[in-house]
Amino acid sequence: VEVPSACVEGGVVRIGGSDIVMMAGPCTVETEKQLMTTAAAVRKEGAVILRGGAFKPSTSPYGFRGLGEEGLKLLAKARDEFGMAIITEVMTPTDVAMVCEYADILQIGTRNMQNYMLLDEVGRTRKPVVLKRGMSSTFEEWLLAAEYVLSQGNRNVILCERGIRTFEKTTRNTMDISAIPLIKRLSHLPIISDPSQGTGRRDLVGPMSLASIAAGTDGLLIEVHPNPDEALKDGAQSVTIEQFHDLMPQVHAVAAAI
Ligand code: PEP
Repeated sequence: VEVPSACVEGGVVRIGGSDIVMMAGPCTVETEKQLMTTAAAVRKEGAVILRGGAFKPSTSPYGFRGLGEEGLKLLAKARDEFGMAIITEVMTPTDVAMVCEYADILQIGTRNMQNYMLLDEVGRTRKPVVLKRGMSSTFEEWLLAAEYVLSQGNRNVILCERGIRTFEKTTRNTMDISAIPLIKRLSHLPIISDPSQGTGRRDLVGPMSLASIAAGTDGLLIEVHPNPDEALKDGAQSVTIEQFHDLMPQVHAVAAAI
């Protein structure tokens, strides 16, 4: 899958090639300052794709649900300023056309992995789609969800391991590292890994990133916040800018070793 981006030579980011593609940014776009500070920092460390939620699938209806189109506009501004490609979640079929105006990659979240109308609609676009693993889905269900997108003619599907629901409560989800090599056996599609949602804990994001690389991931999707303790959403799983800075040399070292 190739994604346009001004910050790499030739203007495209290749997901599923030989490089580990770093996608990083805030869980949710909160303010211009928060987004720009984070984008500048992750770009400097080598991230080429900026993540940020504008439409958030909040477990509680009383939680922050994102800035909507205003958040997309801020993401577009960050793209122009830092030359990064943008990944953001789309939650409903009716929002797909609008989100496509701003996003370089559409994200389908775990809760919507089996929203077939949404899968059909993103399948009718030609935008790359990151399809997160449903938190209680089997591999067969996940791959069939990918088929929904593919069968509409959109070949640009990237799978994302983001943890599954188990009996364990110490972590928010149980990160299933085995999904990475297994998907590579079962499918031709690239797979990336989201250790932030996958664990719900910022102290585990680093180790799970490195384990994902060792297991063969094509990229990492990491939540970064300038001040995670003040984050409006998912601060517990967002790493600080300093932690991201410290992680990157380790990412390069493990990638070089495999
Ligand atoms: C996210 O990445 O913002 C997100 C909500 O992820 P997931 O769908 O994996 O929970």
